[in-house]
Amino acid sequence: MDDGRGELVAIAGEAVTLLTRELARGRRRIELSAAPLPPALAAPALAAPAASTPVDAATPLALPGFEPPAPPRAAAAAPLPAPVRLAPRSDLPGTLAEVKALVDTCRLCPLCETRTRTVFSDGTDKARLMFVGEAPGRDEDLQGVPFVGRAGQLLTKMIEAIQMKRGNVYIANVLKCRPPENRTPIPTEVEKCIPYLEQQIALVRPDLIVALGLSAAQGLLGTKASMGALRGRTFEYKGVPLVATYHPAALLRNPGLKKDAWVDLQRVRDMLREGAPA
Ligand code: SF4
Repeated sequence: MDDGRGELVAIAGEAVTLLTRELARGRRRIELSAAPLPPALAAPALAAPAASTPVDAATPLALPGFEPPAPPRAAAAAPLPAPVRLAPRSDLPGTLAEVKALVDTCRLCPLCETRTRTVFSDGTDKARLMFVGEAPGRDEDLQGVPFVGRAGQLLTKMIEAIQMKRGNVYIANVLKCRPPENRTPIPTEVEKCIPYLEQQIALVRPDLIVALGLSAAQGLLGTKASMGALRGRTFEYKGVPLVATYHPAALLRNPGLKKDAWVDLQRVRDMLREGAPA
């Protein structure tokens, strides 16, 4: 016991000596290196404090051996399981073009009354990676293309941050028509519309689905779990691996979430690299 206390006292003494020396040199903290977020996800840098700024006793100081916890890392990506391919529904057309034509004239729920245009998909039908959002917003409703507003521009940057191109993924929503005022879809709308998405998944046959936002994840997985409980795990939707992350619109509202989204995206990238089922 005495030896242990003596060692602690010695370490504390060394720490105080080092701290005193660094403060005398005018340093407020000893910087540690950290991998930066990609530019698309990085927050504006804070201005460095002036050298003459007085040291606040409450300011945390990093000392060797007392480093703060490492930044969160992407969870190790397990190889993708070979997907159990979803068979196309026999009650819907067997090509994406035909499904889109059906959606264009769909009147199965009241959203057909308020939409400007239906919003079916963007990207390639040969994609390995499929993003699924909640529903069209104002810009999407006007243009008939998913994820084209500010959130869409951020999604494009997120895709490029993992060295992919927007044109090489497939993007769709759970709902094909815009809910008024961008309200959250109600369960009966999801129930009516989700067969179209099922058919898109069955025909595109992606290796991995990324659900963007809690509403999309809950709608696809039939759960009420929080995003905190869903992130970092791999689920399955109709035999296709599925992971959940924040909707780009949530990242625009709360940039502090970008760090977690970047962790999720790195995991997606690694799953695609390591899985690669034929
Ligand atoms: S939201 Fe879906 S189910 Fe409702 S009208 Fe549009 S396409 Fe049809």
